[in-house]
Order: sequence, then structure tokens, then C-alpha cells
Amino acid sequence: MRQSEMLLPTLRETPADAEIKSHQLLVRAGYIRQIASGVYSFLPIGRRVLRKVEEIVREEMEKAGAHEMLMAALQPAELWKETGRWDTFGPELMRLHDRHEREFALGATHEEVITSIVRDEVKSYKKLPLTVYQIQNKFRDEKRPRFGLLRGREFLMKDAYSFHDSFESLDGTYQRIFDAYSNIFRRCGLNFRAVIADSGAMGGKDTHEFMVLSEVGEDTIAYSDTSRYAANIEMAPVITEYTKSEAEPKDMEKVETPDQKTMQQVADYLGHTLEEGLKSIMFKVDDRFVMVVTRGDHEVNDVKLKNLYDASLIDLASEEETKEVIGAGFGSLGPVGVPEKVELIADLAVETMVNTTCGANEEGYHYKNVTPGKDFTVDKYADLRFIKEGDPSPDGEGTIKFARGIEVGHVFKLGKFYAEKMDASYLNDQGKSNTMIMGCYGIGVSRTLASIVEQYHDEDGITWPANVAPYQVHVLTLNPKKEEQAALGEELYQKLLAQGVEVLYDDRKERPGVKFADSDLIGIPLRVTIGKRAGEGIVEFKDRATKEQIELESDQVIDHVK
Ligand code: ATP
Ligand code: MG
Ligand code: MG
Ligand code: MG
Repeated sequence: MRQSEMLLPTLRETPADAEIKSHQLLVRAGYIRQIASGVYSFLPIGRRVLRKVEEIVREEMEKAGAHEMLMAALQPAELWKETGRWDTFGPELMRLHDRHEREFALGATHEEVITSIVRDEVKSYKKLPLTVYQIQNKFRDEKRPRFGLLRGREFLMKDAYSFHDSFESLDGTYQRIFDAYSNIFRRCGLNFRAVIADSGAMGGKDTHEFMVLSEVGEDTIAYSDTSRYAANIEMAPVITEYTKSEAEPKDMEKVETPDQKTMQQVADYLGHTLEEGLKSIMFKVDDRFVMVVTRGDHEVNDVKLKNLYDASLIDLASEEETKEVIGAGFGSLGPVGVPEKVELIADLAVETMVNTTCGANEEGYHYKNVTPGKDFTVDKYADLRFIKEGDPSPDGEGTIKFARGIEVGHVFKLGKFYAEKMDASYLNDQGKSNTMIMGCYGIGVSRTLASIVEQYHDEDGITWPANVAPYQVHVLTLNPKKEEQAALGEELYQKLLAQGVEVLYDDRKERPGVKFADSDLIGIPLRVTIGKRAGEGIVEFKDRATKEQIELESDQVIDHVK
């Protein structure tokens, strides 16, 4: 491509609102332009990189047995009402009306759409398992869109959905897609880690997030320094087995386990029966906030709380912040989003459930102000909210370290949640009707692109890994007015094109300083500069990332780029 003909505007100044490197560099180097908060257009070189990432995703998904489709982005409210997510997804869902006042949403995710298609079209076990995916813009009215492409309100996602007649079959597909994701992020050159994620509202099924290690990441990962153990500390506290320590510390109080009446009050308030269990809700206790999430069956003083997991304290300053945490943790793939109606309840005795994850069900008592690990020896836990650096790893191998991560992918065993609500069933080999079992798998394609820039840049600009670079070679003629330079530049450009090399040719009538600075900013892996020695057929050949530079005879260039 000739740079003189391209829409490739570069900026010397850093845009005022761009806090992180990927945002700054992608704007400055002419990859993206913002048109509204969290909404971006991709300019030609940006589109090229996006395509590179998409192609890697496509190849690996197809290898994993998934087939590409394209679902409607405009989704009727009725579908979302079938699963209850019209109410529970909260304000992140962008809603609109058509001219007949019918309600719609712009696709934030596609569980409802795909489940409606599959329930109509797949009736027999013979058609299962089935895995489909799409690459499409998603819309989420994020509370705080920021960091450029990392948290947009319109962004490109690859989302995949699988349908099964058994949990074993789901396990197999989950593993294949897990492996595909590892390949995808490796091919993108990323330093990443797959971590155990919070399955919170979804009923304790397997889920993993793929985290790119980066200081600007919004998630915290707890990982073992010696084993493969790694988890998002967003995971709700679950201490599964513990032993009480000998000494009873002063600040640890015995408090009564909530009685049936209290639980009934909570359930009444929420309009649930106890058997239905609770959805996600907050209670204000003193000046703190508590979140109760659904998860598994629970029994407190003979009261069966189906799906009630336990109370866990989120020690945050404000209601706003708490809502955000709930939104981030449970908002998207899970059925429970930001609670529509968050009311503060101060007068229920729910503080008995606060900070008492140790000691639940001990003869009618909980212990308040427990410090897990100190007051109780934790024998086995997935309690990551309380985990600290230096703690023993939950898998017993090594000690815990913390790192920041950017969530670029998420794989999830959904089980029967959507299929049950939407009545997606099939006939098994005995002719009996069964509910389908599902999985879903997302990759933030535009977020992945920005994550690559976070890991590949230096003080002068982007340093793309070759697999995703917009072009492989940047040819610069420093002074195109000089005939020998223009002629050699043109010749090299044509030769490289003929060899199928992706080449950007800076034929602009700009000063050499501008050309070098733009070239560094744009970050194409190899640079060929045609300057003073053009007359002798000598060019400069530079590796953008390592900055190593050599002089070459122009006809040796092809051998060096292939
Ligand atoms: P986050 O926790 O960052 O809000 P999420 O858990 O809500 O993400 P998922 O519903 O799991 O996101 O969606 C699948 C993938 O889509 C995520 O792993 C992420 O890579 C990407 N993604 C989600 N929200 C955004 C966004 N606002 N902008 C860009 N990419 C996003
Ligand atoms: Mg989210
Ligand atoms: Mg998340
Ligand atoms: Mg997620």
C-alpha cells in the first residue's frame, strides 16, 4: 500500500484522555479514532490488525470443530424475557424501541438468540454435540468505558456456543476450546495465563478466564509460584474445609446463625420462596456492604436455601462501587446481573452471615470477624477474596503471588440454565425428551488487539509481533524527489508485492524525521530505508523491536524478509 494514498493520520501529541499505552499509541499511530465514549472506528491499518487477530481466532476455532455463523445484533426483548435476563442484565444492556414501540436490545451476548435457533432446529441426539461461533460487534453500556479498546461500549467479540446431550460431551468440547484459546493467545504473541474464574451465579460449574499479564489489567490473579494453579481473586469466598485454631482470638465473636424467620424475611423481601433461593442482592450492615449470591444448596438451621451460596462481604466504600463489582462479576454471561432493585436493608440480622465463612453451621453459630488462616486453619479453600501474597497455594504447591491481568477470553460450562428456561430439548436414543446442556466461550477480539500493544511497545511506538502486524515490511524513501531514491523505492516495493510480502510504502513527500517517527510509531516489524546510498543500490534494514540495523544491497532484501 502506498502511504501517500492512505487514511493514516498520525499524531505527535498524546490525546489528553488516553491513560494507557495501547490507547495512546493506537490513536497516535492512526489505528483507531473515537466517535463517542467507548465507541471506536478502525482506520485502515487498524482494520488490518483486527483481521489478523480474527483470522487466528477463526483458524483455531474451526480446528476445534466450531462453525462460523452470524447472528442478528438486533434482538427482540421477548427472547431476553424468556431467560429473565431482560430484568437481570441491568443497565449494561442497550435497549431501544422500533416504530411500533416494540422493545429490542442490541446484542451484548447471544445465549438467547442461539438457544432459540437450536431449540427450533435441533431435535435429536444425533445432531449433538454442536458448536457454533461468530465474530461480531457487541454492545454493552459499560458504566465506565475507558482504556480505549480495553473497555468499550461497542467492541468486537468472538462468541461461541456448544450444545450437548451429556456433561462428558460438554467436558470434551470445553477442553478443545480451552486448548484453542491457548493456541490463539500464543499465536498473538501474548504472555497470558488461564485462571479459574468465578462461576458465581451460574451454579458452580467450571469456568476459566484467559488473562493477559499486564499492570493495567483490572483483574487480580492469585497464582502459585511453583504449580500451574492460578485464579481470579474476584472469586467469591468459599472455604470448603477448615479446622478451628486452638486459641480463640479476642476479636472473634460468636454470633447466632440466622434463623428461619430472618431468612424468611430476606426471601419475602425479594419475593422468592426459600426453596427458590436468593438471587444476587446486597445488604447494608453497619457501614459495609454485603452481597449474597446464589450458588449451590445450603441448609441453615434446617431451612433449606436452595441455591443460596453464602454471604460474602464486599468491603467497599459506596453503594455505587458495590453495584459495579456485582456488575463486573455476574453481569454478562451469568443470568444474574446488576440487581434491578438494590435496596439497603439495615435491620435484618444478616450480619451474622458477614465475615463468617469459617464456622458456618457449627452448632448454630457463626464466628464473626474471622481471619481465615489465623483463627481457622484452612485445609482446603477456594477462598480467594481473603487470599494474600505469600499464603500457601490452595493446591498445596508453592506460595501465592499476585499479578494484574486483562481478561481477553472466558470459557464457561453453562449446564442447563438457558436450555431449561428456553425449553431447548432433544430426543435421546430411547426417544425420551431431555434438556440440552450448553457451554459458551468468548474472546474480546478488539481487547486482545489492545492487549498486544500493552505488551509490545517501547518509547517510540508499537512493536508488533509479526503474526498480527498490519504489514511485514515498511519501505521508506527518505527523499522521493531524488530520482535514484524514488526509482529504487518503487522497484523494491513492486518486488516485495510480487513475492506476496505485505508491504507499506512510505512514498510521501515528508521530511525524513517525520517518516522515521511515524514508522516507529506504527511499528511494522521490518523497515527498509532508502536514502543517501540509493545510487549504489545500498539500503538500510532495521528490526523495529530490537532496533538492530544493517546495510544491505537492495537485492538481498527479499532474502531477509522471507
Ligand atoms: P469484564 O469482566 O472485563 O467486564 P466480562 O466478564 O463482562 O468482561 P464476558 O461476558 O466474559 O466479559 O465476555 C467475553 C469477552 O469479551 C471478555 O473475556 C472480554 O475479553 C471481552 N469484553 C467484555 N467486555 C468488554 C468491553 N467492554 N470491551 C472490550 N471487550 C470486552
Ligand atoms: Mg463485563
Ligand atoms: Mg469478567
Ligand atoms: Mg467474563
